[in-house]
Amino acid sequence: MTGFTPTEIKNIDAAIPVKCRNSWANHSIKSFQTADELETRFINHVETTLARSMYNCDDLAAYQALSNSLRDKLILQWNKTQQFYTIKESKRLYYLSLEFLMGRALDNAMINLDIKDLCNKSIDELGFNLEDIIEVEPDAGLGNGGLGRLAACFVDSLATGNYPGWGYGLRYNYGIFAQKIINGYQVESPDYWLKFGNPWEIPRLEIQIPVDFYGSVNTVIDSKTGKEKKQWSGCERVLAIAYDFPVPGFRTNNVNNLRLWSSQPTTEFDFQKFNEGDYDDSVSEQQKAESITAVLYPNDNFYQGKELRLKQQYFWVAASLHDIVRRFLKTSKKWSEFPDQVAIQLNDTHPTLAVVELQRILVDIEGLEWNEAWDIVTRTFSYTNHTVMQEALEKWPVDLLGNLLPRHLEIIYDINLFFLQNVEKQFPSDRALLSRVSIVEESNPKNLRMAYLAIIGSHKVNGVAELHSELIRTTIFKDFVKIYGEQKFTNVTNGVTFRRWLKQANPKLSSLITKKLGSDDFLTAPVLLKKLEAFIDDKEFLQEWDNVKLENKKRLALLIKKLTNVDVNPHNLFDVQVKRIHEYKRQQMNIFGIIWRYLQIKSTPVDKRNKWLPKVCIIGGKAAPGYYAAKKIIKLVNSVGDVINNDPEIGDLLKVVFIPDYNVSKAEVICPASDISEHISTAGTEASGTSNMKFVLNGGLILGTVDGANVEITREVGEDNIFLFGNLAEDVEDLRYDHQLGRIEIPDALKLVFTELEKGTFGNFDEYRSLVDSIRVHGDYYLVADDFESFIEAQSTIDKEFLNRDGWIKKSVLCVANMGFFSSDRCIEEYSENIWNIEPVSEQV
Ligand SMILES: *Cc1c(COP(=O)(O)O)cnc(C)c1O
Repeated sequence: MTGFTPTEIKNIDAAIPVKCRNSWANHSIKSFQTADELETRFINHVETTLARSMYNCDDLAAYQALSNSLRDKLILQWNKTQQFYTIKESKRLYYLSLEFLMGRALDNAMINLDIKDLCNKSIDELGFNLEDIIEVEPDAGLGNGGLGRLAACFVDSLATGNYPGWGYGLRYNYGIFAQKIINGYQVESPDYWLKFGNPWEIPRLEIQIPVDFYGSVNTVIDSKTGKEKKQWSGCERVLAIAYDFPVPGFRTNNVNNLRLWSSQPTTEFDFQKFNEGDYDDSVSEQQKAESITAVLYPNDNFYQGKELRLKQQYFWVAASLHDIVRRFLKTSKKWSEFPDQVAIQLNDTHPTLAVVELQRILVDIEGLEWNEAWDIVTRTFSYTNHTVMQEALEKWPVDLLGNLLPRHLEIIYDINLFFLQNVEKQFPSDRALLSRVSIVEESNPKNLRMAYLAIIGSHKVNGVAELHSELIRTTIFKDFVKIYGEQKFTNVTNGVTFRRWLKQANPKLSSLITKKLGSDDFLTAPVLLKKLEAFIDDKEFLQEWDNVKLENKKRLALLIKKLTNVDVNPHNLFDVQVKRIHEYKRQQMNIFGIIWRYLQIKSTPVDKRNKWLPKVCIIGGKAAPGYYAAKKIIKLVNSVGDVINNDPEIGDLLKVVFIPDYNVSKAEVICPASDISEHISTAGTEASGTSNMKFVLNGGLILGTVDGANVEITREVGEDNIFLFGNLAEDVEDLRYDHQLGRIEIPDALKLVFTELEKGTFGNFDEYRSLVDSIRVHGDYYLVADDFESFIEAQSTIDKEFLNRDGWIKKSVLCVANMGFFSSDRCIEEYSENIWNIEPVSEQV
């Protein structure tokens, strides 16, 4: 505990001038004041922490010394922030996410501490180049894609908004695999991101939380109450060790915490086995424990029922809840007040066992009555759904879960029983309804539907864009809307942090906007971007805007040259699709469209070919290692690129590049450099998308379907400033039905593409047969044939519009001016107000 009493805190608050009071932390910025101070500390870290001399200090050492210097400052503020939260006893939010796709920390820390210029000066004086040093840092790739990056944006916005909000996740030793392209194929290699240590984490080796697995359940008599209770015993035990990652807010001294757990064997290792000479076996127990947090599962939007994954989930949930409950118990408040102190957000169903674990703690350990406990549980949790796709919904086999967590299975059965009894009361004799909403799917083998458990255990359920929230209400969860009413189901449209995705990723555009608006307040008050509309006829400004885009395209062209050895002309249209490779995201449609364009150019008489707008097609993204179709798409993109890029007749008219190893730091270079980015999922399949927001925020226009957040982006920026095409979500079911009955029509343009593939122009057709057959033979589930013509037509509209330079730049400015809504700060405000009921740690002005 700290030395402050609540009265003293009130006095501190009162002493803060009203203008500064929106953050206690603004009161005194505790960062580096001078370049001298920073340099002294830097040298100190080189000589002591790293045990090197300034004479053999390379970029890696410089990165480590600079990071450690910033870390020193962060830790002090982080400690003060946490003390302050404790004194205030304000309600806290815990964001449970199995993924945090953080990317690099150094640049972000400099920006959020507002000392980048100072660092630049120091590092220069010390004889280094700051940009090179930033590049040394490996990405923290503890996530697959959008879901993990969302969690990373949310912790940034929580800290910036001075909200008492923590993240809880796992400290994987191996993040998302690194992708290499060899002969056009994806080859995965392990991402051992901790190789050179990690200056951004604070190991809390003293925080060791035991987590149990397996064992059995007995009924025993409680010695205190004389009542029966359940006892779970005979377990295998592992330890969860806390590693804390300070999360600095932007221009506030507030530093929040991201706590990631690492698994370790218990220190009680099997001495008996050791003494009996079974040395290997006694050690292998230890290795088993460590394997729990060894590696991130590399699936995006896909469920794979592996026991180790369930172990990861419970390990993480049990450690986090133990930590949360321990912190609550220090307040000496009553259990009934728990939901007034704690809000827990479930990022997808991955942490759903937390619902069960809290009920177990309250009933089995704390001795509360079931109903009292259940009321606390449901007032504490809320659940974010991220998909309506069946293959992505978690369903754990009953036997698997019952073996690993026997007591939890009993509790799930009880939760289900009481729930179904209530449904039965509400809708007597609707037995079909009961079986539809039961947590237990009566399949063979029986499965537990985790989304249903998450809904039943939460007070709010949200989708991540309006269209998606509407779809969950009317399709996969419609029975639950009938049972609980509309108000339990809500929407919070996703957002991104403007600090990373505008200021950090695009310093040139950020500076131009700052110059024009007279301040950079738009970074925390993004509605201010709207003021850019006033300059829509300012010729000089439009020219500067265009120059920034060109500079960013040159930066990307250099990266492309380095990674692929392909030369691309930054003056040509950059058409970008980067995201996880997935059939529903339809990179296959993109590449078919590129092939079609290539064929059209080839069949145009040579002297007329310059009617085609020269275009650079950029595709990137990782395929899950076991996802056959996605890997075929990657191979096709690379093969098509090889042919087109080396066709002397084509030259600059068309280039196709696959950027290997797409990750956050590459996204920061790619997003500012698009003229067009593609977000072309089959309508109704992409819950929100967030890279659509990043691209438009950086002045690129969208070629997209009426799906996810594209709908709301259209509403904000105006229909004239986005290129939409394709069938609507409401038509998808009927089209699929038709296809199943064999009613499918392949448009001529697509037939042309298939014929060319069959000819072997891009390599042996056997390689791509499955991609074609899934459309021609297997019902075209993702409606590529249905949308292809409209896709091509939208591209030809783009080609025309791009030539109208003035008009195009204006569209770009108008887009940025109207992207304020998509700040993750706005998301956090909505969650805080409507779901979490939490407030910033001090009075707002
Ligand atoms: C933003 C982001 C994503 C999400 O992209 P979508 O197009 O919305 O699926 C995935 N990966 C990385 C590295 C990102 O930065």
